[in-house]
Amino acid sequence: MSSQSARSADYDLLVIGGGVNGAGVARDAAGRGLRVLEVEMADLASATSGWSSKLIHGGLRYLEYYEFRLVREALEEREVLLNAAPHIVRPMRFVLPHDRTMRPVWMIRMGLWMYDHLGKRVSLPGSHTVGFPHVEYSAGLKPEIRSGIVYSDCRVDDARLTVLTAMSARDKGATVLTRTKFVGGRRENGVWQAELENVRDGSRRTVTATAVVNAGGPWVSSVLQGVPHKPTGAKVRLVKGSHIVVPKVHSLGHACLLQNTDKRVVFVIPFEGKYSLIGTTDVPVDTPEEAVDITDQETDYLIEAANRFLAKPISRADVVWTFAGVRPLYDDGKSDPSSITRDYVLELDDEDGLAPVLSLFGGKITTYRCLAESVLDKLAPYLPPMGPKWTKEASLPGGDVPNYNAFRDEMFERYKGFPRDLLDGVVRRHGGRTPLVLGDIARPEQLGRNFGAGLTEREIECLVADEWAETADDILWRRTKCGLHMDAAQRQAVADYLASRKPA
Ligand SMILES: Cc1cc2nc3c(=O)[nH]c(=O)nc-3n(C[C@H](O)[C@H](O)[C@H](O)COP(=O)(O)OP(=O)(O)OC[C@H]3O[C@@H](n4cnc5c(N)ncnc54)[C@H](O)[C@@H]3O)c2cc1C
Repeated sequence: MSSQSARSADYDLLVIGGGVNGAGVARDAAGRGLRVLEVEMADLASATSGWSSKLIHGGLRYLEYYEFRLVREALEEREVLLNAAPHIVRPMRFVLPHDRTMRPVWMIRMGLWMYDHLGKRVSLPGSHTVGFPHVEYSAGLKPEIRSGIVYSDCRVDDARLTVLTAMSARDKGATVLTRTKFVGGRRENGVWQAELENVRDGSRRTVTATAVVNAGGPWVSSVLQGVPHKPTGAKVRLVKGSHIVVPKVHSLGHACLLQNTDKRVVFVIPFEGKYSLIGTTDVPVDTPEEAVDITDQETDYLIEAANRFLAKPISRADVVWTFAGVRPLYDDGKSDPSSITRDYVLELDDEDGLAPVLSLFGGKITTYRCLAESVLDKLAPYLPPMGPKWTKEASLPGGDVPNYNAFRDEMFERYKGFPRDLLDGVVRRHGGRTPLVLGDIARPEQLGRNFGAGLTEREIECLVADEWAETADDILWRRTKCGLHMDAAQRQAVADYLASRKPA
């Protein structure tokens, strides 16, 4: 850092965006001793990071596009994230049913051999072929499918991963402000003057920062429009992806990866105990606002793709929930949205070697921790001296439970007499922080009002106090997925409770 004004800025780093990437950068930077402010215009994980397929995966299909760097990094991150947050990242077996109309078996086996060996695999089992019918892996599939290939990846609660990462950033000293929009910035004496708006009441203030990270996801270009920068031609390509949720298509723990006739793949993933999550689609859109809901066409596409394989066909009447998100991909000029790179690209702009703004394009939830390290490598010449890389070995809040199943049993023992599903939900969400959430109580009534689906007044208060939750949606669909298991009246009761506890 070469300027006196940069040293006197309010913050070393301003991070715009409270998705997984913004939270990851804020966490890493704060842990290295930087003074960090992260702003999110809505709620944490309210955009792409809450609407993903919820997989921590190498991305088998990316091998077809020769994305070896991305796949290797992503494969290695599976074990890193499993260790960091075993309560929200769980190993999962995937079955790829096979018939003669699909990619040949030798090609899939070769891809999976690379998948097994490209990245370090410690706890996850490797891949193998199985003949059908199989006691486990042909469950729910049509009897005419004669074989399948089984491999490993992980699933994650994407919104909780984002929130836990922001909590870790805060624990390391970062300030995290939700419902705070970056409206624009300018460089003055080698530092950024950034204007922020409190979205709750419209009030504005200016902060100064040595460097800015633009982690605006689908809004990366609109954030850039609000700051002076040299145009580089880097563009974001918005590709919508939608999911449907249906009653579970089989009762076992594995997911299916279905090859569709258009050469795309569709996942069928066990979800929230009672359901299967089916997705996703690839639909180019011009603005994030165009991609709020799934279309009937997308719903039918997913149903048709699943029904090619399912013994008991599903229909629109089975769909209990849907969601849609937008991938903020780096525009590499490819016309087929499925083939656009999923790797991340970092674009840096500065003025006379000062006041950099670094914009993030693309990326995966799986690689958010590595992305943060790359961002700090790139910004290091502009920033005060930093500590070494640290996140690879560190737990996320609640993740310090190396043996998750043993820990859960310990909680069942400690809170004996509490409803099992309530405890199970709390342990899954909070891991090692469960005793902080439930407290030193002996009877379930001490948790206060039970809103249904295992959500109690006590947990709501914790989510508000510790996790930036403000609205019913923050609680029902992001901090938890209790909304899926509740009826409309129960969801309304949560909204009413939050309204009633707000100061007048
Ligand atoms: C359908 C789908 C399925 C996917 N499945 C997977 C998967 O299974 N596994 C995987 O690894 N990846 C998956 N991905 C990719 C992954 O979800 C994204 O790469 C990742 O979530 C992007 O995170 P982000 O932080 O960059 O963006 P976002 O999560 O979109 O965060 C950007 C944030 O910036 C905020 N923001 C924007 N402008 C401003 C401003 N002016 N001021 C303040 N805040 C602002 C927004 O409100 C938003 O919250 C999937 C993506 C999609 C769409």
